[in-house]
Amino acid sequence: MEKVLVFGHKNPDTDTICSSIVMSQMENKMNQNAECVRLGEINKETQYALDYFKVEKPRLIEKIEEGQHVILVDHNEFAQSVDGIENAKIDKIIDHHRIELKTTDPLFYFAEPVGCTSTILYELCVMNNIDVDKKMAGLMLSAIISDTLLFKSPTCTPKDVKVAEELAKIADVDVQNYGLDMLKAGTDLDDFSAEELINLDAKNLESNGSKYVIAQVNTVNIEDVLKRQADLEQAINNEISKKGLDLFVLAITDILNSNSEIISLGNKAKVVESAFGKTLENNRTFLEGVVSRKKQLLPMIEKNI
Ligand code: MG
Ligand code: MG
Ligand code: MG
Repeated sequence: MEKVLVFGHKNPDTDTICSSIVMSQMENKMNQNAECVRLGEINKETQYALDYFKVEKPRLIEKIEEGQHVILVDHNEFAQSVDGIENAKIDKIIDHHRIELKTTDPLFYFAEPVGCTSTILYELCVMNNIDVDKKMAGLMLSAIISDTLLFKSPTCTPKDVKVAEELAKIADVDVQNYGLDMLKAGTDLDDFSAEELINLDAKNLESNGSKYVIAQVNTVNIEDVLKRQADLEQAINNEISKKGLDLFVLAITDILNSNSEIISLGNKAKVVESAFGKTLENNRTFLEGVVSRKKQLLPMIEKNI
């Protein structure tokens, strides 16, 4: 049987990694030949979840061969996918983002406007009568906690909360305690270089002829991260010239108080000012109550760029 590779986006987050593992297991339980792979390094938050539930990380790949069968989870934009995706055979997509692709062949596309891909995957498990074991439940729960910032993000829906509660029972964890420990594990940024830090969770985007990146780091102390502002700016400016970007926005998100400090650089840096009615000072501005790239940052930036 031909092998199908299952993977999420570049700069993988917890949803991308956990959902690709669960999706490949689900496929294999339905007698398919699926392998989950990843397109980048595992972050500390995801590693915490993998260690906790004793699951190995997927194999790293950099590109795929022409005609390779693939299943995409947690993304659909080619700019965020594996190198060579243009010539792959996309069998399925399970996602919770806006749809930005055109395929040559028909495919199975399952998307819902919920907070996390794993919420959709759990529904698929139920629909397909797949037995969800403790590890699978733990991984899906971790993904939901990560994407919804423990249910505090405006992307979180009642369905995410309900599914997470069911998964927590199967995984046998206390959601609040486990969730906070997992999120905090991801805020330990000390041993990352500035370059690594701005790429931990960065999305390449393009609209209205402008190329831009919106990156995000989670923290429990914004001031701590800002001590490295000069280094971060240098790394961002390198990225801008390397990729020919018009704008690079870095959101430093306080996961405890649900706010973000923004660093905005590039020839369109001031887009952030019109998008949020704020003034940049020292290339920075504070956005109260903003934690979601998908619902809060991206739509406003896209409209104004
Ligand atoms: Mg993701
Ligand atoms: Mg996601
Ligand atoms: Mg995210």
